[in-house]
Amino acid sequence: MSDATAKKEERHKFQAIKGTRDLMPPETELWNRVEQTAHEIFATFGYGEIRLPVFEETDLFARSIGLNTDVVSKEMYTFVDRPLEDLEKLKEQIITRPIGLVNITNLGIFDGEVEHFLSEVKPLFDREEISRSPENAAALRSVHLAHQEMRRLLLDRALSRPELQDPLVAQIVEIKNEMRKVLLGNVLTMRPEATASVCRAYIEHNMQQLPQPVKLYYMGPMFRRERPQKGRYRQFYQIGAEILGGTDAPGIDAEVIEMLMTFFDKVGLQGATLYINSIGHNAENCRRGYVAKLKAALEKVKDKLGPDSQRRIDTNPLRVLDSKLESEQAIIATLPHIADHLCDECKTHYAEVKRQLQVRGVLYQENWRLVRGLDYYMRTTFEITAPGLGSQNAVCGGGRYDGLVELLGGTPTKGIGFAIGEDRLILSLQESGKGQVQQGRDIYVAWMGEKAHATAIRAAKDLRKVGFSVELPPLEQKFGKALSQADKLGAKFALILGDNEVSEGLWTLKTLSTGEQSKFSEPDLLEFLRQQKNVSS
Ligand code: AMP
Repeated sequence: MSDATAKKEERHKFQAIKGTRDLMPPETELWNRVEQTAHEIFATFGYGEIRLPVFEETDLFARSIGLNTDVVSKEMYTFVDRPLEDLEKLKEQIITRPIGLVNITNLGIFDGEVEHFLSEVKPLFDREEISRSPENAAALRSVHLAHQEMRRLLLDRALSRPELQDPLVAQIVEIKNEMRKVLLGNVLTMRPEATASVCRAYIEHNMQQLPQPVKLYYMGPMFRRERPQKGRYRQFYQIGAEILGGTDAPGIDAEVIEMLMTFFDKVGLQGATLYINSIGHNAENCRRGYVAKLKAALEKVKDKLGPDSQRRIDTNPLRVLDSKLESEQAIIATLPHIADHLCDECKTHYAEVKRQLQVRGVLYQENWRLVRGLDYYMRTTFEITAPGLGSQNAVCGGGRYDGLVELLGGTPTKGIGFAIGEDRLILSLQESGKGQVQQGRDIYVAWMGEKAHATAIRAAKDLRKVGFSVELPPLEQKFGKALSQADKLGAKFALILGDNEVSEGLWTLKTLSTGEQSKFSEPDLLEFLRQQKNVSS
């Protein structure tokens, strides 16, 4: 390495990874306010908070979100957990060990290694420390069976019986091939969303035995390897809620949406628009019938569509309706609407959701193009957009997913939920001027002298106890310097404590906005400040 390169490396400044960011004060105050409001509002609707792991088995997301989606096919942060080094080495040795029929010694070593490998792997597999996926289980079983067969042939003295030599070689090859497929670890993924985790937890903790429905909410970071832009990050935050179990009565759907809009209202989000739709259910006389008609209609206009939509005609025709491509909009407008193809039950359900939204005073717009591409989604879907976000203007998406718990191995369970994009919500609040947060300290304690220091420490303690934010400088400062520091920190008051104040028992309080200064006894001062706080909060 040249000196210059070495210097350059020394200077390397660490930066947050692309698509991730630091949230810092004072902005974090706003995040806290938003999250606190969610805790409060959701609690009034009877929801309890669930805190979920940020990584899960990859397969949980692959199955629930769907292999055909962008999220699963290209955006997940996936890694192999804890590759076991010694076992990895052994596996490598087994795969690469040269074995000729003349080399009996090597065959003996090979046999011992395979046996050792299998005995080490079994308990790890049982303890779920290595993947228990069907593929991994199958590969291990094949290694085991081929190994047994190899031993049987050896006991039959295959080495000296020409007719058994080919079968023996075949078993060795089989062991090596299947061994290659064994994964010594778990494949895990940083969660790209949390609905699947909530359903996994519902099943894992037997929540179907609790009074139904179970109402849960969560908040926290999600991870998707998307192209970063305004309102789109690789680590972003969601606040979401799910109702699992019980009935699919329209009152549930309407109440979830009512709660959501109550929350948005309480945090001060302005200009939010709620879009709703019903996508029916996955039956011949309902969505499946509609999808067949949609597909037929799309085939007719195929050559006018872009490559993405053309591909989706086969993989997921509903997703064509999501297209934002300008050139496709006029064509999409001519496609059949799902509302005209819903079965009677789904029609009634949708009508009742809309009626109940009206009763609850929730304004909505219908958007027939609001769809979800997976089979287990059904009936109600909704989305909320907010101003000030450019092209990424959806702050929340949600819908009913009655088949998901079953898909993940649970009993048939009704489900509906939503996820709010917290980053976008915060952006929209800031853009509309609703993102102001209280900045600065309440009180700066300016002290001079040893005696005053002890009094200042006591005063700071008492003031903090009643909830004031207090800055107590660690070193003595001249009063002039202290006051300018108080100004810089945006303090409302400066409490001035010098020798005079301490000996007189009268403390000086300066209101920094007006420059007014008054003297108070200690109890009077506390009372005065308490009143000021009540006025401002
Ligand atoms: P989804 O889980 O895709 O239905 O998204 C729900 C909400 O999360 C969206 O409406 C967005 O507000 C937000 N969201 C999704 N992906 C991102 C991202 N990469 N960055 C920021 N917010 C996101």
